Amino acid sequence: MTALFSNTLLGAAVAPMAVSAESTDYTWITRFQSLAYIVAALLFILALAGLSKQESAQRGNNLGIFGMAFALVATIWVVIDGDKDNTALTVGLIAGAIAIGALIGVMLARKVEMTQMPELIAMLHSFVGLAAVLVGYNSFIEQPGANSVENAFHMGELGLAVFIGAVTFTGSIVAYLKLSAKISGRPVTLPGRNFLNLAAIVVSIGLIIWMAHTRSLAAGLLPLVILTVISLLLGAHLVLAIGGGDMPVVVSMLNSYSGWAAAMAGFTLGNDLLIITGALVGSSGAYLSYIMCQAMNRSFISVILGGFGSDGAGASTEQKDYGEHRETTAADVANLLKESQSIIITPGYGMAVAQAQYPVAELTRKLRDMGKDVRFGIHPVAGRLPGHMNVLLAEAKVPYDIVMEMDEINEDFADTDVVLVIGANDTVNPAAQEPGSPIAGMPVLHVWEARNVIVFKRSMGNAGYAGVQNPLFFRENTQMLLGDAKKSVEEIVSDL
Ligand code: NDP
Repeated sequence: MTALFSNTLLGAAVAPMAVSAESTDYTWITRFQSLAYIVAALLFILALAGLSKQESAQRGNNLGIFGMAFALVATIWVVIDGDKDNTALTVGLIAGAIAIGALIGVMLARKVEMTQMPELIAMLHSFVGLAAVLVGYNSFIEQPGANSVENAFHMGELGLAVFIGAVTFTGSIVAYLKLSAKISGRPVTLPGRNFLNLAAIVVSIGLIIWMAHTRSLAAGLLPLVILTVISLLLGAHLVLAIGGGDMPVVVSMLNSYSGWAAAMAGFTLGNDLLIITGALVGSSGAYLSYIMCQAMNRSFISVILGGFGSDGAGASTEQKDYGEHRETTAADVANLLKESQSIIITPGYGMAVAQAQYPVAELTRKLRDMGKDVRFGIHPVAGRLPGHMNVLLAEAKVPYDIVMEMDEINEDFADTDVVLVIGANDTVNPAAQEPGSPIAGMPVLHVWEARNVIVFKRSMGNAGYAGVQNPLFFRENTQMLLGDAKKSVEEIVSDL
């Protein structure tokens, strides 16, 4: 949810502020703008705080929308006031840009399936990266400047904005192509990958220093263009090298990069709110990445360096023979549930694919009405988006107080009568506890400790996202309910 919201903040923030640096008169209207920015910044902080809990998420979202509307009105007002000779043109340009952006945004949002959210988010990050690059170029063309300290700082800021923006732009496009399966999710690694990345970063720093020492537009253009090309290649190379199983962290890291790119654009434009907004998104994205790294047992540092995943889950298709699986029917599962007292449901990506959240909510209501103890266990990377399962369950009106995080519920499986694994696979895979497994060390939900496990899945042929076989399906206490999860749950509800 935070990732989605961050996009809203950045998307709305970058565009109008790109022109705000022009208004330099410290009149009452610029004082009003400063006040509006402080209020907006506070609202953004409250919004992020609200989004940290499901109960307050809606209020957080509304505070964010309110803060952004406030900041937009203040910025546009100041821009129009500062350019009285061309009011009609300024208003027309701003209104036109907002209308085109809003139209595309609404069309995309209406069309996109919940399962396509990660790739949409990756695409939106690429826009923020591109915006930072364009703002950097605009600033470069407008202010070639003399060879002063101020100019050196300005060149340094815009160089960083272009660097981070370009890395975010191509990195996000590659992430989009991987997540939407338009290119293979497997890691593509060049020989000496880490050396190449390091060399690109060192050369980029050198180019930014070169830019800071240039005296004219013409002299600064060459290092800027080389910097842009290297940064574009670096972004693509960093993400191409990452295996499919690690993509959730990449999406969250790109979220963070896009925040820093916007903050740098804020420095370039001298816009305080853009700096604050970018820093909020950058740091919350980095923190989210850190939490996700912990959930997937990845090192945060190796994620930042882009050197992860190539030896990881996405690369493996090794299939061991775990023996025979047992199948069951919806009617038998309904009977088992009637006899059980404690039930935990662990949803995964398959619940989103099947859109089974409504029948799952209905099943939960029915079982609770029968006096059963029903709870949900949510893995931090279940689905294809941070918070994916929480959003779906909230949408279907499942009460928040029975939706538990992995750490809150993992010790309770041993005392549980039945676990319903609805479309989850990697997040419940005991192979994570086998040394040498591609997902070794990844914390998972210990569903196999329950007395009975029912796995909802369409067929035995497919592995989970990480491409690793799941020994859970072959355990003695596990039964497979094969078929579309929505249909299976509906059948159980009617049998109950
Ligand atoms: P998985 O992707 O591991 O497994 C999904 C399961 O759902 C499969 O077993 C699949 O089997 C089943 N399934 C698919 N469609 C249906 C259907 N219509 N009815 C019933 N079952 C269905 O899901 P998890 O949620 O357990 O794990 C998430 C994975 O995605 C992790 O590896 C994570 O790293 C990765 N990821 C997470 C992101 C995030 O931010 N949360 C982002 C990107 C990736 P079958 O096809 O046989 O039905």
